[in-house]
Amino acid sequence: MERSLFGTNGVRGIANEELTAELALDLGRTIGTMREGLIAVGMDARISSPMLKSAVLAGIMSSGSDAVDVGITPTPALQYYVRVSKANAGVIVTASHNPREYNGIKFVSGDGVEFSREEDSEAEMVLLSKKFRIARWDEVGRVYEDDANRVYVDSVLEKVNVDAISEKKFRVVVDCGNGAASFTSPEILKRLDCEMYTINCYPDGRFPARLSEPVEENVRELKEVVRAVNADIGVAHDGDADRATFVDEKGNFVSEDVMLALMAKYYVEMNGGGVVVTPVSTSKCVEDAVVEAGGEVVYTAVGSPIVAKVMKETKAVFGGEGNGGLIFPEHLLARDGGMSLAKVLELMATENKPLSELVKDIPRYHTLKTKVECRDRKKLLEGLKAEFEGANFTDGARVDFEDGWLLIRPSGTEPIARIFAEARTEKRARELLSFGILITKKIIS
Ligand code: MG
Repeated sequence: MERSLFGTNGVRGIANEELTAELALDLGRTIGTMREGLIAVGMDARISSPMLKSAVLAGIMSSGSDAVDVGITPTPALQYYVRVSKANAGVIVTASHNPREYNGIKFVSGDGVEFSREEDSEAEMVLLSKKFRIARWDEVGRVYEDDANRVYVDSVLEKVNVDAISEKKFRVVVDCGNGAASFTSPEILKRLDCEMYTINCYPDGRFPARLSEPVEENVRELKEVVRAVNADIGVAHDGDADRATFVDEKGNFVSEDVMLALMAKYYVEMNGGGVVVTPVSTSKCVEDAVVEAGGEVVYTAVGSPIVAKVMKETKAVFGGEGNGGLIFPEHLLARDGGMSLAKVLELMATENKPLSELVKDIPRYHTLKTKVECRDRKKLLEGLKAEFEGANFTDGARVDFEDGWLLIRPSGTEPIARIFAEARTEKRARELLSFGILITKKIIS
């Protein structure tokens, strides 16, 4: 399979091996060639981020565009800054939740939304052709500095019921995973009058405390501290703070799908109905909660830019992925870790219930995933269409059964097919998964 430079998250790779200073320079020249005017550049707390950011800035300036350097900032803060400032585009240097040796470079449009697949292809063409705009010596761009973190924190606080939250004096443990959230989430909590306990809330690109992805196995310390200090809630972020995951007041991790369902339900109820957008790989618990609240779920292909795009098209009231990436359209059409934190507290305050109580009624499913080697994407897709008439073919095939569902989709970046199965019992989920493996092998044999 042909591997393009731009994946689902811009360009990503091991710093100084795959993602070199030269490549970062060319990416800076690319965005400077595509978008004139002012371009905002931010980065996460990784060791290689200042090197790559400097190269990106040099590339932008060499094209004649000006740059605004906002330093270490969460991805949603950079996106929000691009949306509300004079910047025509943005660049974020981050590898999100990947291991510390990785880094990445992602482009953002003037409206604060990540580049679409089409825009990424256009960027790749400019990059590979090397037909960059080169400014004359006296027309090279300039670089300014600004504080995107302050702009972001202020805007998050404008979008939540500060009084209701402040009154509660919530005791909150926040684990920033030594990432960019260190500059925003503690500040949000402070201004919400929370009694705050911070862990790993100083930027350190070696990630000394835990792996960056805020999944349950990586946030053991958070669970322990929540129990030890008798907190109301615990929150953890990934390296670029577009994701947030939560621990309830008993110290139990709440699955990301369940949090997505809870917040989707909150937004549907608040709006008296509406559309919630999520990828086809998301747990059925989200649809169950949304439908019960009088809303409707629209499924998209996997990847947050497509979720954001469909949210815009459908005027959705809410959206997100089942990995802790929640999207609040009244703020930003992008995964938004700071808003997630503030809005969960708002829900706890206005409902006057602890988190464990709020998620009690969200249905629980057993989800299983596996992968099967698949070198012929087209053959698989055609076979799936023949096999499962009437299924959802947004991304591979999502097939609904009375007691569960099955998703078979060829990966966009690797020669594999991903298979997901979900059911109310683990036994049934296993059966569906085995069936999925069998069908996939039959089609591609
Ligand atoms: Mg991330």
